[in-house]
Parts: sequence; C-alpha cells; structure tokens
Amino acid sequence: MSRDVIVLGLGAMGSAAALHLAERGKRVLGIEQFSAAHDQGSSHGGSRMIRQAYFESPHYIPLVLRAYELWRKLERDSGKRLLHITGGLNIGSRDGELVRRTIAAAEQHAIPFEVVEGSAISRRFPVVAPLTGDAAVHETNAGYLLPEECIRAHLALASHAGAELLFEETVLSWNAEGDGVEVRTSKGTYSAEHLLITAGPWANQALHEIFPLRVTRQVMAWIQPTTGVRPFLPESFPVFLCEDLDGGFPGYGFPAIDGPAGGIKAAIHGSDWQCSPESVDREVHQADVRRIVEQLRVRMPALDGEVVRAKTCMYTMSPDEHFVIGLHPRFSSCTVACGFSGHGFKFASVVGEILADLATKGSTSHPISLFSPQRFSCDQ
Ligand SMILES: Cc1cc2nc3c(=O)[nH]c(=O)nc-3n(C[C@H](O)[C@H](O)[C@H](O)COP(=O)(O)OP(=O)(O)OC[C@H]3O[C@@H](n4cnc5c(N)ncnc54)[C@H](O)[C@@H]3O)c2cc1C
Repeated sequence: MSRDVIVLGLGAMGSAAALHLAERGKRVLGIEQFSAAHDQGSSHGGSRMIRQAYFESPHYIPLVLRAYELWRKLERDSGKRLLHITGGLNIGSRDGELVRRTIAAAEQHAIPFEVVEGSAISRRFPVVAPLTGDAAVHETNAGYLLPEECIRAHLALASHAGAELLFEETVLSWNAEGDGVEVRTSKGTYSAEHLLITAGPWANQALHEIFPLRVTRQVMAWIQPTTGVRPFLPESFPVFLCEDLDGGFPGYGFPAIDGPAGGIKAAIHGSDWQCSPESVDREVHQADVRRIVEQLRVRMPALDGEVVRAKTCMYTMSPDEHFVIGLHPRFSSCTVACGFSGHGFKFASVVGEILADLATKGSTSHPISLFSPQRFSCDQ
C-alpha cells in the first residue's frame, strides 16, 4: 500500500508533523527506531522552556505565538496539561546581551514584560542574589512544557486520526529519485509520495551529511537547593536564564516541579563537546555537574546542594544556530527539519504545522525564510 507521507523519526518534530498530516486526511506512516518519548535523543528530561521575548532573534516571535495556540489546542484535544505558565526571568548585566536583546525583542512585538533592577530582584525573588549592575527581565507568559507528554499526546492523536506508527524499527536507507520515495527499514520496505526527515541528532546519518550540522553533548542536573524546594515552587518561582560572568553561555533552570526530593533542574545552554548519537558519552561525570553548580550558584547561592539526578542529551547545531526547515535541496519529494540548535522544542507544535504544509503543498504561509536549507547546503 502506498502512503502520502512517510515521517522518518517520531521525536518532537516528527510526532507533531504526523498529527497535522493525519488531521488533514493524509495517509501517514511514521517510523521510529526506539519507543515513544524515549530518552536517547534530544527531547527528554521532563521539562522544556517556552518564552516569547525571543532574544535569539525576533523572527521567531510570530512562530512561538502560533506554537502557544497549538500547544493549548493539543491540551484541549488530548485532555492533558502540557504547558505551564510560571513567568520567566532573564538575569544578567543591565548592559549585557541577554537583558538588552530580551527587552528589544519584547518591545518590538509588544510581549508583556517588566524590568526589575538591583536589590528589587531579591526582594521579589528571595533566592536570587543579583550581582552589582544586574537587571532581570520578567516575562509574564514564559513557562515550561512537559516534553515526553507532548510527544505522547501528538502520537496518540495522530494514531487516533489514522496515522500508522511503527516503533523499534530503524530506517536504513531511502531513495527519492524519480516519482515518490522508497524507504528501507530494519523490517521492510515502504513507499510514499513524500518523505519527511525529522531525525534530530541522527540528521547527519539520515541526510548523508549534506548540512554542516554538529551534534553536541549536553548535561542536565537536578540540584537539591540548600533552602529546600519551597522558595522554588512554581507558584512563585519562574523559569530562568542567567548570563554567565563573561556574557557567554547562559545557565538556566526550572522551578521545583519534581516534588520535595526531586531537586531543581538546571543546565548550561550550549556545551561544545562534539559527539554523535553513537559516540556520545551518556555517563554523567563529576566535572559535568560541578560546572553547572558553579555557574548557577553565582546568582542563586541555594543551588549549591546535592545533585540528586543527572542525564545527558544532545543538541544538533547549525552553523548560525537557526533551524533548517524546507524542501530537500535535491529532492522535491523530500522535506527536512533539523539543526534545532538547542532551542527547538517550544516550536514543535508549529513546526508540525509547517512540515505538513511543506509535505503536502510544497510551501507554507509561516515565515520560515530564515531556516532555508539552501543557505549552507554542501550538496549544491
Ligand atoms: C538538555 C536539553 C535542553 C533543552 N532545552 C530546551 C528548552 O528549554 N526549550 C526548547 O525550546 N528547546 C530545548 N532543547 C532543544 C529541543 O529539545 C530540541 O531542539 C528538540 O527536542 C529537537 O527535536 P527533534 O524532533 O529534532 O529531535 P528528537 O526529538 O530527538 O527526534 C528525532 C527522532 O528521530 C528518530 N530517528 C532518527 N534516525 C532514525 C532512523 N534512521 N530510523 C528511525 N528513527 C530515527 C530518533 O530516534 C528520534 O526519536 C533542549 C535540548 C536539550 C538536549
């Protein structure tokens, strides 16, 4: 039986695309090498930050606003609570990149925010010990998503809408010469009009390295605060980003959402330890967690307690850290979505909508020119 679309990889982006395609009445086959919402790729660890004042580039703001709408729709359709609004706090030097760019992005798109400065920061958030010259941008609508639950909800509704989803089955090769595509897996061969490649950190293998993507190893640590979790409860404490002392990779974290013994999840955005999904060292070492604690405790001294849990994850970095979304540079029957550069999850709901547009119509009305695969394809 031939299908309309085969989705290679059912992680954050593939699960969302499968739902949008199935809801449009397309015959969808999704193929995933592991189980649903597994912990081997980029989309595990219990929480993902979502925020609107996008300091990385204001281009993303219309997309994230649509993503919020679609996450809320997914909650309604699945009956699950997936998106929790806690507010978000970006803390750093008043003149530093993080604070200035967050304010600029928020002003440009009328995103609700307020700036808290100096000692007012610790009056409002007692666990924050600001440095001299610090300011904090508080963004009202920031919060966090439950990534595994989001993926399960996308998959369950996709399946309900008629998508055929295969797990524990690995795509070994695909061929898109001529009309349509043929996909060979560890268990069989399937054909379709169109192939969507959403392989996350496996994108280099699935796309034969046509894009200069670098996979990096990241570590998340759950730190038990020395104050206990009470001052960090999500009712009063937001998700946060803290500039590091050289203005480089920010540390970030979440409120206490894992119960009294669960600790506070924290990490440093963008460790540069290059790896591949096969070679990544999945063991967490003392030096990994020490680096996180040392950076976070500078402005949050209570985050100097025991590390109760830690886990590795992978980013797939594009050279300019913007996503890669569009038609395959060589095959018009193939669409790619990769290189989410450590900030893709919050967009997964809208990326699913975009990918369904591209796979069925070849174009989308969403603003995605920034993500064009043509900009650095090595395959021209
Ligand atoms: C520690 C960490 C923290 C992060 N924090 C945030 C955050 O706070 N906010 C945010 O927005 N983003 C965040 N991100 C980034 C975000 O999680 C990723 O951008 C996003 O999850 C990428 O989704 P994906 O679908 O591309 O990859 P994945 O979800 O990994 O999915 C790819 C899937 O393809 C499957 N696959 C690959 N090859 C094959 C094959 N040959 N056959 C069958 N299946 C295959 C894989 O098994 C996998 O399930 C974070 C990432 C990490 C690692």
